[in-house]
Amino acid sequence: MDEHKDERKDYDSPSVPQEERDGADNKKPEAGEQEKDRDKDRDKDKKKANVYDKYRYWGSGDNNDGKVRMNGRNRFTLFIFLALIISFAFLFFNQGGSQRPTEVSYTAFMNALEGGNVAQVDIQDESVITFYTDSGFYGSARIPYYDASLMQTLEEQGVDTVGSVAGMSFWVLLLNLLPWIIFLVIIISMYRQVGAAGGGRMMGQFGKSHAQQYTPKDNKVLFKDVAGQKESKYELQEVVDFLKNPERYVKIGAKIPKGVLLVGPPGTGKTLLARAVAGEAGVNFFHTSGSDFVEMFVGMGAARVRDLFETGRKNAPCIIFIDEIDAVGRSRGSGLGGGHDEREQTLNQILVEMDGFSTDPGVIVIAATNRPDVLDPALLRPGRFDRQVAVDLPDVQERLDILRIHAQKIKLASDVDLERIARATPGSSGADLANLVNEAALFTARGKRETVSMDDFEQARDKLILGVARQSRFMTEDEKRATAYHEAGHTLLHYHLKHVDPLHKVTIIPHGQALGLTISLPEKDQYTLRASYLKDRIMICMGGYVAEEIVYGETTTGTSNDIKQATSMARRMVTEWGMSSLGFINLSNEGEPLFLGREIAQHKDYSEMTARRIDEEVDKILDECLNTTRSILTTHRDQLEKLTDELVLKETLDDAQIRELLGFEPEHHVTELH
Ligand code: ADP
Ligand code: ZN
Ligand code: MG
Repeated sequence: MDEHKDERKDYDSPSVPQEERDGADNKKPEAGEQEKDRDKDRDKDKKKANVYDKYRYWGSGDNNDGKVRMNGRNRFTLFIFLALIISFAFLFFNQGGSQRPTEVSYTAFMNALEGGNVAQVDIQDESVITFYTDSGFYGSARIPYYDASLMQTLEEQGVDTVGSVAGMSFWVLLLNLLPWIIFLVIIISMYRQVGAAGGGRMMGQFGKSHAQQYTPKDNKVLFKDVAGQKESKYELQEVVDFLKNPERYVKIGAKIPKGVLLVGPPGTGKTLLARAVAGEAGVNFFHTSGSDFVEMFVGMGAARVRDLFETGRKNAPCIIFIDEIDAVGRSRGSGLGGGHDEREQTLNQILVEMDGFSTDPGVIVIAATNRPDVLDPALLRPGRFDRQVAVDLPDVQERLDILRIHAQKIKLASDVDLERIARATPGSSGADLANLVNEAALFTARGKRETVSMDDFEQARDKLILGVARQSRFMTEDEKRATAYHEAGHTLLHYHLKHVDPLHKVTIIPHGQALGLTISLPEKDQYTLRASYLKDRIMICMGGYVAEEIVYGETTTGTSNDIKQATSMARRMVTEWGMSSLGFINLSNEGEPLFLGREIAQHKDYSEMTARRIDEEVDKILDECLNTTRSILTTHRDQLEKLTDELVLKETLDDAQIRELLGFEPEHHVTELH
C-alpha cells in the first residue's frame, strides 16, 4: 500500500491531563497537622523539663497524650513521626542541665557528707552515688573502693538513702531500638504500596503467581477459530496429541515436548493459538505474561515462577502460557548496568522448573515473543523451548479467512466485498483485521443503520491506518486548492508510469496529520520489489512536490513526508539492495539497536570514501526520478488542472471516476510484478 500523507504540524493538540499521583496531594495538610502537633508536644515537654523532681518526671513520661488524629491509611507515617518525637524528647531531656548531676570527686562528696550538707543519696550498683545537698546541688561521685564506713556515715548523718540498679531505662532501650523500628515501618509500608499497585493484594500473597486460569469449560477456542497459520497448527497438533494421549508417547519412549516458543509479530494470533491448543486438548490453560514476573523485590519473580509451576503440576495436564517472555528471558548480562539480578533469578528459576519436568509429564509451557533474537540462548536449549513455531503475518488468502471469521459476528450488507478488503490491507495482522471489522460495525451503529456496508469498512480502514477523517477542519479555498494540486500530482503519476499499483482513491479530506491522501491498491502482496517498481514509487512520492513547483513556483512544508519516503527508498536501493553502480554489497547499518540491549553502538563497516559514493548514488537516483516526474507533469499539465478542479469539487475520487474524467481506458495498463 502506498499512501502519501502530507504532514503539517498540528499545534492544537489537546493538552495532556496532568497525572494525579495517588496520595501525593492529600498528604500535605496532614503533614502540616503533624508539625503543629509536634510543636504542641514540645511546649509541653519544656514545661515538664522545669519540674525539679526527676523521679516524677520519669514516672509521668508519656508525652503523647496530645493525640494526633489521623485516618488509618497513614498510621505508618504517624508511627514514624511519633518515634521521632519521642526520641527528640528523650535527647532534649537528657541534655537539660538541671537533670544531669555534676560529677565531683569522692573526697568532695565525703567532705559534704561529713559536713552534714547532704540531704539525699541514691547509690547505684554500689559504685555510683548521686546526691542532693541541702542547698539543692545535684551531684554524683564514683565510689573508688569498697568503703564499709560509707553506710555508717550516711546513717550517722541521717541521710535519706536509696539503692538502685543502673539497668537500661525504658527510654534508652527505645532509643536503641528506634532505627530498627523505623526500618521495619519503611519495609512494611513498601510492601503495602507494592501490594496496592498489584491490585490490592494482601501481603501474604506475595510470591504467588497471578496467572489467569481457564478450565476446559471456560476456554472454548479451537483451531478452527484461528484462520490461516497452517504450519503452526500442524506443529502444535503434536502437542495436542501428546496432551490427549500421554501414555502412548511414554510407552514408545518418545521424547515429550516440554516447551514451545511461538515467534511472530504482535497481533498475529499467538495467544489465540496457545488457547486453541488447550481447547483442542481439553486441558487447563494458565495465562501469564513475562512482565508479571518482573518485580521490585529480588527473589519475588522467582517465587512467582515456582508458584506458577507448582499450580501447573497440581492441575496437570495443562498448558502454561507465558506471553512476552522476552521481558524476563533477555540474554543475561545484557543491558546497561551489567544486568538485572532480579530478572536473572527469575529466568534461572524458569530454566530450573523446565528442567525438572521430565519426571512429571503433562505440563507443557508455551511462550510467545516477537523478539526471539534477544532471548537468552539457554532458553532455547534442548529440553526447554527447543521447539520454535513461526507465527507470521497473514497473506491475502489468510486475511480473507480472518475477515470471514470476524465478519460472522456482524450483519453484512450485500455490497461488502471482503476479498477487496483483504487485498487492500497488506501488512495487517489478525488483530488489526479483527479491529477493522469492529470499527466498521461501530460506524454502522453510529449511522443508525442495520447492516455493515462497504463504505463503513472503507471508513474504518482509513481511520485505523490514517487516523479519523477530520471533516470539521477548517480549510480556506486556497489551501484546499493547493492540497488538490499536490494530490493530483501524486495521482496523475499512477496513470503515466508503468510499474505502479492501481490507484484506490484520492482525497483532500484531512485524515489525522495528513491534509490529503492518495491511496493505491496492490494487486497482490509483494515480497520482492523490482528496481523499476521502486523508482516509480519514488516518482509517485515526488508527484506532490513537483506539482506544487510547477503551479506555484515554490513548494510547501506539506511535502516533508513524501521527501522522507523517497529518500529512504533511494538510500535502501543503494545500501541494501545493490541497485546502484556500487553493486552487490550491503552497506546498511544492520538491525535497529535494541533498547538497552546488546548492540548499543552503531558502527559503520565502510570508509568515508564509500559513504560519499553512497550519497552520490542516492542523489543520482533522486535526480533522475525528479527529472522524469517533472517532464511527465509538465507534459500533462492540462490533466493536472482538470483533476485538481474535480478534486476541489468532489473532494474524493476513485479510480473509475478519474479514468472517466481524464478519458483513460479502464485498467489501461496492466501491472506486472515479480
Ligand atoms: P498475539 O498474541 O500474537 O499478539 P493475539 O492472539 O492476542 O495476538 O490476537 C489478538 C486478536 O486478533 C485475537 O483475539 C483475534 O481476535 C485476532 N486474531 C489474530 N490472529 C487471528 C487469526 N489467525 N484468526 C482469527 N483471529 C485472529
Ligand atoms: Zn504528498
Ligand atoms: Mg498476545
